[in-house]
Amino acid sequence: MNLPNLKDARVRGKHKPEVKREDYVIPEAVGNIGKNKKYCILTYGCQMNVHDSENIAAIMEDMKYIQTDDMQDADIIIINTCAIRENAHNKVMGNLGRIKHLKEKKDIITIFCGCMAQEEGISRSLSSKYKWIDIIMGTHNIHKLPIYLEKIIKNKKQEVNVYSIEGDVYEGIPVKRDSKYKAWVNIMYGCDKVCTYCIVPYTRGKQRSRLLEDILKEVEDLVREGYKEVTLLGQNVNAYGKDLALGYDMADLLESVSKTGISRIRFITSHPWDFTDKMIEVIAKYDNIMPYIHLPIQSGSDRILKHMNRRYTKEEYITLFNKIKEMIPNVSISTDIIVGFPNETDEDFHETLDIVNLLKFDLAYTFIYSPREGTPASKIKDTISLDTKKKRLAELNKLVNKYALLNNQKYKNKMVEVLIEAPSDKNGKYMGYTDTMKLVNVDCDSKYLGKIVKVKIESIKTWSMDGVVVNDK
Ligand code: SF4
Repeated sequence: MNLPNLKDARVRGKHKPEVKREDYVIPEAVGNIGKNKKYCILTYGCQMNVHDSENIAAIMEDMKYIQTDDMQDADIIIINTCAIRENAHNKVMGNLGRIKHLKEKKDIITIFCGCMAQEEGISRSLSSKYKWIDIIMGTHNIHKLPIYLEKIIKNKKQEVNVYSIEGDVYEGIPVKRDSKYKAWVNIMYGCDKVCTYCIVPYTRGKQRSRLLEDILKEVEDLVREGYKEVTLLGQNVNAYGKDLALGYDMADLLESVSKTGISRIRFITSHPWDFTDKMIEVIAKYDNIMPYIHLPIQSGSDRILKHMNRRYTKEEYITLFNKIKEMIPNVSISTDIIVGFPNETDEDFHETLDIVNLLKFDLAYTFIYSPREGTPASKIKDTISLDTKKKRLAELNKLVNKYALLNNQKYKNKMVEVLIEAPSDKNGKYMGYTDTMKLVNVDCDSKYLGKIVKVKIESIKTWSMDGVVVNDK
């Protein structure tokens, strides 16, 4: 049994991440184990987790399992968890009861993985009180799933393999992408920023960038397969390459990916501290790098930003925001905001409202602060009641919605380009996003799926727009 521990997870030592290319193997004993059997993956959390689930799906299919969305129908249930906020945690724990019930009725295998498994307290409790979970594994060893499966089938004993390590980079793990048009591409793993509220540096390890040539090869393959859009993924993509010290950075990566000819490039998530002028210049220069930046601010109060260890002041953020707006035509900018960080005063909160009024974000993802065990912020004694935090969130959301609608109104009767992705719920319409990441429900038929089309925007809502196709690109 390998259980995680916070002490090791905190270490940022001398380990030099290795690029491992041969580590994914399927033991002969499980090569065909999934024949006529089904797997179901429940995914919680961010895009990194969604992409991890795409890797897990491919691994399952290498063992001949078939995917199902129906837990009742599955022979293996995989729960890919998120540790970032309490409600994601509660949802997972709530679902465990249903899965246990299914396991009592049917001979199924259950796998618990992802960021929650990397939490010391959770893994200990799962391994002692939830013996019916067959495999508990973390974020560093997805590629070893077939080996753990072989072991539990042979030994009929719970397999716990969660490592608190700085981590390496694994190439060659297969992927079964959810979309035929848009692809997630990891460019780095882990994070070294250590914002005081965030559990990610402990669950995902030290920052490790993939080599530029490996990323480019993946994107070139996607272009050949007909993909239209890639999103370069990482916890702090702007710091890409710093750990490699090979003389290239995020701006160079964006420029190189742009030259592959892929139609659309996006990237998330950006930490303002690492956003360079060189990056802004590259984004402005290349048409296939989308004019949309997600730039988390988290708070408008310098006092709170300092306690969060965000490494920028409100003024520095405003300067960066304005520079991006000036240099990238038609850019849209979204953000993340946490309300109710420990001991956030009314004055602090009003500074956050002020900055929203000043910058008028296209969109803001807003959250009530959620203490995560083991993070520095979780040790701060908080004097602000949950009721106050909820009222603040409601007030902030009203403002955020106002500016989302105002920003969208600029699009009325305008022509935009939309990548048509999938049927939407709206009476036979199809959904897609503009270059600026605005959701559009388009009146068109299925022949436009996977195409970038010109759309005339006819009506506006707070979170979406409606439009009609004018012609193909
Ligand atoms: S930059 Fe901060 S918030 Fe983002 S993953 Fe790293 S520590 Fe967490």
